[in-house]
Amino acid sequence: MILAAEPEPNRRWHATVVLLLVMAVLSACTRPQPYLALQGRTMGTTYHIRYQGSAATPAPEALQQRVDARLQAINRSMSTYQADSTISAFNQAPPGTQVPIDTDFAQVLALSQQVHQASNGAFDPGVGSLVNLWGFGWPKPTQPLTQPPTPAAIAAARGHFGQLPAPQDGHLHKPAPMRLDFSAIAKGYGVDAVAEVLREQGVQNYMVEIGGEVATRGQGPQGERWRIGIEAPGTAPGEKTVLLRLHLGEAALATSGNYRNFVEIGGIRYTHIIDPATGYPVREPPLSVSVLAPSAAWADAWATAFMVLDEEQGLALAEKQGLAVYWVYGTADAPRMRHSSKMVSYLEAAEVAKFDK
Ligand code: AMP
Ligand code: MG
Repeated sequence: MILAAEPEPNRRWHATVVLLLVMAVLSACTRPQPYLALQGRTMGTTYHIRYQGSAATPAPEALQQRVDARLQAINRSMSTYQADSTISAFNQAPPGTQVPIDTDFAQVLALSQQVHQASNGAFDPGVGSLVNLWGFGWPKPTQPLTQPPTPAAIAAARGHFGQLPAPQDGHLHKPAPMRLDFSAIAKGYGVDAVAEVLREQGVQNYMVEIGGEVATRGQGPQGERWRIGIEAPGTAPGEKTVLLRLHLGEAALATSGNYRNFVEIGGIRYTHIIDPATGYPVREPPLSVSVLAPSAAWADAWATAFMVLDEEQGLALAEKQGLAVYWVYGTADAPRMRHSSKMVSYLEAAEVAKFDK
C-alpha cells in the first residue's frame, strides 16, 4: 500500500510544476511589454518618443543612438543653423550653379514642390530671404526692427520657388537668387524618419513627437488607439492646456500656430508665416491649424499652407484635397473652431457635440 501510494505525491508534484511552468510560459506570452520613453533635442526643439519594447527591439540606448544619428543626418541636410548643411550650401551658391544635394533634401524638395502646387503657392520654402528680412531668420537680427522693410527690399527678397527644376544626378540647379527654408516641413519629415527607424527596429506601437508634430502607430499604453491632444492657443511654453483630443491609429498630426512666434514692429504684431503672394507676413492668420495625414511631413507642410490661405479658400481646398484639418480662429479667450469633414471621425464624440453646433 505504501509503495503503491508513493508515486502519488510525486505525480502531483510533477503536475504542479508542469502547471506552473505552463502558467509561466503563458504569462510571459500575455504579460504586456512595458512602454519606454526616449527624449532629446533636435532642430532647435525637443523630441519625445514612447514605444513598446519587446524581445525583438534593441536596448533603449542603442535605439536612441540610431534615432539621434538619423536626426543628425537630417540636420546636416536641411538645417539653416548649420553653415555646412546642404541647404546652407545651396543658399550661399551663386545663381546659375549646380549644387550637390543628398537624398533627404531631394525627398523634402519633391514633397514641397507637390504641396506648393496643390496649395496654389501658399506653401513656399522659397521665402527664406523674406523670413530673414522680417527678422525671423537665423542668426537673429542684433537689433529689433523699428520699422517694416521697404516695398523695394520686399520685392528684392521675393523667392522664385516655382522656377526650381527637378534635381538631376544628385544636383539641383539654382536658376535665380533664392534662399530656401524648409522649417515648415523639416520637423514633420524628421518625425516620419524616426518612425521609420522604430519600425525597422521591430517596434510595432509608438508615438513620436518633434516640436509638436506627432506620428503614432498601433496602440498606446492603455491598449487603446493613441489619443493626442491639440494645445489650446495662448498656452504658455511648458504649460499644457488641451483644446481637444483626437484618436489616432496610424497617422500623423501637425500644428502650425501664430500665438507664440511673432515680432512686434512699431507696436504692430507680425506673424512668422509669410504670404508668398505679397511678401508680407499673413495679415490675420488663424490662431492655429492642425492637419491629420498619413505622413507628418505632409501634415506639417499643409498646416503651414492653411495659415496663409483665408478661411473660405482654406476650407474649400481642404475639402477638395480630402484633408483632415482643424482651424482655431478668434482670440485665445474666445476661440472659434472650424474643421473639414474628413476630421470628424477622429474627434471624440463629446468634442464634436461641443464644437460642431
Ligand atoms: P511651421 O511652424 O511649420 O508653420 O513653419 C513656419 C516656418 O516656416 C517659419 O518660421 C518660416 O521659417 C517658414 N515659413 C514662413 N512662411 C512660409 C510659407 N508660406 N511657406 C513655407 N514656409 C514658410
Ligand atoms: Mg509646418
